[in-house]
Amino acid sequence: MINSGIYVLWLHLPKEAVLAVGSLGTFSFPPGIYAYVGSAQRNLQQRLARHRRAEKKLRWHIDYLRAQANCLGAVVFLGAPKDAECRLAEHIRQLPGASLPAGNFGASDCSCPAHLVHLSGLAPDLVALSHAVHNVQLGAAKSLAFFDAGD
Ligand SMILES: [Zn+2]
Repeated sequence: MINSGIYVLWLHLPKEAVLAVGSLGTFSFPPGIYAYVGSAQRNLQQRLARHRRAEKKLRWHIDYLRAQANCLGAVVFLGAPKDAECRLAEHIRQLPGASLPAGNFGASDCSCPAHLVHLSGLAPDLVALSHAVHNVQLGAAKSLAFFDAGD
């Protein structure tokens, strides 16, 4: 069973939040839909389970936003290598209505502008969210959607 790959975590922020994100700085996050692109080259399922949990020690940039936002679900590309992570983030930054409220968010070890994207053009509709990434080509890896009922 493959337990590695890259993923998009979909979050919904119900109202604007001004958050201090670790050492990255303080940013104003508008309400709405967010996509966060990450990679887990091992223990992918455990990583996604961790994202779903609201209560935890804040370790990664995304943990600070997750604490204020609802987790809608994730789309994973099982077996996709780490270098596909930035290509997937680039695809999402090109979607209509995309903006980057926090520069370098989730992108400390690459040259991307950010791995967190606010998407004003998408409704919190799970079918629409998975459709937004479902045509991305990442080698042989196919997208699989996992959705929570919400929290
Ligand atoms: Zn990157």
